[in-house]
Amino acid sequence: MRRCSQTCRRYAPPVRTHLRLGRLLGVPIGINWGVLLVCGLLFWSLAFVSLPAVAPSHPSSAYWFAAVVGVLAFLGSLVGHELGHSAIAQRNGVEVVEITLWLFGGVAKLEGDADDPGAEFRIAAAGPLMSGVIAVAAGAAAWWVDRSSGNQVLEGLLVWLCAINVVLAVSNLLPAFPLDGGRMLRAAIWRRRGRKAPATRVASLIGQVLAVVMVVAGVVLCFKVSWWTGIWTVALGAFLLLAARVEWSASAAQPELLGEPVGSIARRLPSPLGASSTVADLERVLLADPRTPLVPVLDERGDVSQIVPREALARIPPAQRAVVPIRSLTQPLLGLPRVASSDTVTEVIDRLGRGSHWWALLVDDSSLHSVLCSEDVEAVVELATA
Ligand SMILES: [Zn+2]
Repeated sequence: MRRCSQTCRRYAPPVRTHLRLGRLLGVPIGINWGVLLVCGLLFWSLAFVSLPAVAPSHPSSAYWFAAVVGVLAFLGSLVGHELGHSAIAQRNGVEVVEITLWLFGGVAKLEGDADDPGAEFRIAAAGPLMSGVIAVAAGAAAWWVDRSSGNQVLEGLLVWLCAINVVLAVSNLLPAFPLDGGRMLRAAIWRRRGRKAPATRVASLIGQVLAVVMVVAGVVLCFKVSWWTGIWTVALGAFLLLAARVEWSASAAQPELLGEPVGSIARRLPSPLGASSTVADLERVLLADPRTPLVPVLDERGDVSQIVPREALARIPPAQRAVVPIRSLTQPLLGLPRVASSDTVTEVIDRLGRGSHWWALLVDDSSLHSVLCSEDVEAVVELATA
């Protein structure tokens, strides 16, 4: 049925939010006009088909009121599903931009991917789990109504809410990337292979195959079940196919990246700290520039001959940082390898190797301006050899 095709996707293609409804758990909630079409169809099917069938001989106003409540509960279920993703994402350090309800369900827009497959799996699983919890709660409430008041309309509505959340949970668990189940599959492959890009490629390939199956099944449903169900399934399959293809292309190998000059991936260093600076000054610089892995420090002659790595800050307790001189944390610049910004990624790997943590100073025209980090080089190699 139509409700079967409600899906949730994260990091999805841009869905424009047209109306902000407010915030829940600090996350902005918005709707796209497409969700109003779904609400209208659900209202019609509840008020004129489902509820009169399971609870006959009630006034129309009772069905209409229950249908409005049902549609609101459906929207609440979508938000609950997305809040499940959002809460676990936030716990794993991934920012949530907003939650949008639209034609094909809900989208929790996240700042980026999780850093490790375990977090990715938990974030993906949290949405269907939340839908499962709502389904159990609605089912238990329906059972309680049946045992107590016996209000057939209310019971029918709760059974419908239970069913729609079961459908939400199960349909999102399909291993069709970028659905939740596909993300869980990618996380499992990622953990097994140790790399994300090949896992994305496999999962998005499976996602494309399943999307094609969905399109074919939708065509069959058009003739065997109903036009509405068939067209909806075809539309959803086509959408998933496009989304999976985008992910598949984005995860393709890009060997040309190995020939790129490293200057384009180097991180700019902040201005050097003076020789008389304290650890509190260092802390301010690190807070202002969260991506810099180290800070240059001038010596008494005014030359940049020392650096302080970011992790050194943790050695000094916060209460002492204003009085401890920065020179207690410095290490000589001479010990660091140096590369030119025109060196290619391949040349740098040949010289400095892979698998160990290092920084290399980018020295052009004798001036120290940037640093190359081994993890940035590793990220390029991962993209290049996906
Ligand atoms: Zn989801």
